[in-house]
Amino acid sequence: MAQKIIERVDACYEAREVPFGKVYEWHPAYVALECDCGERLILTAASTTTACGRCGADLGVFVHDLREREDRLPDRLTHPWLNDAQARVQQRLRDEITYLEGSPWRYDDVTADNG
Ligand SMILES: [Zn+2]
Repeated sequence: MAQKIIERVDACYEAREVPFGKVYEWHPAYVALECDCGERLILTAASTTTACGRCGADLGVFVHDLREREDRLPDRLTHPWLNDAQARVQQRLRDEITYLEGSPWRYDDVTADNG
């Protein structure tokens, strides 16, 4: 097999800011190949045709590889919103702590006035 990988792109979500939040667009992994017959083709994990359209060379190994890589993707890549939600919770906790520490409504201040 003498197929040459021209380009390999890993799957990812691309976060896009929109007026009321964020949307995530899934960009599947793909490989751009040049077959030894000169045919150029792009394969993704979802490709059902794995043979070169010109010479019929079996390119299934590339699709298999793509699927394996997709299976191994960490959650933060396949579910970035989980990560975001967690970051928001942590930020809120930090905000609350800051609020409590900087608050004039401290218990001992109130009792001191009652003296
Ligand atoms: Zn070919």
